[in-house]
Amino acid sequence: VPAPVLVLLSAPTENEPLDGTGFAPADPTVPHLDVNDLGAVRGDGIFETIGVMDGRPQALDAHLLRFARSAAQLDLPAPRLDVWRAAVLAAIETARTAGTLGPEVGVKTVLTRGVEGTGVATGWVRLAPAPDLDASRRDGVRVLTLDRGFPADVAQRAPWLLQGAKTLSYAVNMAALRYAHGHDADDVIFVSADGAVLEGPTANVLARIGDEVVTPPTDQAILPGTTQARAFDFFAGRGLRTVERRLEAAELAGADGLWLTSSVRLVVPVRILDGVACAVDVELTRGLLAHLRAVTD
Ligand code: PLP
Repeated sequence: VPAPVLVLLSAPTENEPLDGTGFAPADPTVPHLDVNDLGAVRGDGIFETIGVMDGRPQALDAHLLRFARSAAQLDLPAPRLDVWRAAVLAAIETARTAGTLGPEVGVKTVLTRGVEGTGVATGWVRLAPAPDLDASRRDGVRVLTLDRGFPADVAQRAPWLLQGAKTLSYAVNMAALRYAHGHDADDVIFVSADGAVLEGPTANVLARIGDEVVTPPTDQAILPGTTQARAFDFFAGRGLRTVERRLEAAELAGADGLWLTSSVRLVVPVRILDGVACAVDVELTRGLLAHLRAVTD
């Protein structure tokens, strides 16, 4: 497995003075994080994971915009997006120069509130190889629907829960995945307490129902997915209607196709939902994967 690449940001937000480029490469094999960093002790920070296919970061602008939106939701200082963009590209270039840049890698950008009491944010970019995704992309995954425990309009009722921000607080998401793994499943679709489909722990949900492809609306406590947006372009090009609307959990069983989308994984079809086999459209899935993999922006 090729070594990861690490870039540390000295000026991750508008609050830190910019001196030079605002970032520098760092040794990924030694520790860098202070044990009092609020990102570590409270999960108080945000992140993005960007897919890099054949050396090209995908939807980098969309990721950086979402990064800035997440920062605003957490009342973090505004990230210097030009510095983050340059740091992402520098990480890719470092791997390319070292000859370790595989065909599919992920780049994670992390911004935390920093060490308690300092008012100085912490930021880094880390590039690492993608896991082997061939089998799940081809054969599909087994998914459980799990109760998320809040209503679909939680973002309006309780904005302090930060639903819709990509925060570092993913312990609940990881617990849901462990629950699935302990119950003959690979992944999860969260359902609101009032029965609406939300998202996966690290993915958006798309369902084909007849000639419509549906995804839940982003005011329903979910992340606006960069991959979901690109998948909609593909489906529209195939003559399907793409719709953002409330999707009832009860509709999933009758769907003509069900997928999870996210930046590094791109797309995996759901082949078993709550123990019952689902319709898998092999040809449509293959076309969608090829479309997502080929995106060059
Ligand atoms: N929803 C959640 C909770 C996620 O963590 C992710 C990505 O990791 C997504 C959706 C998919 O977003 P994207 O396609 O932009 O990676």
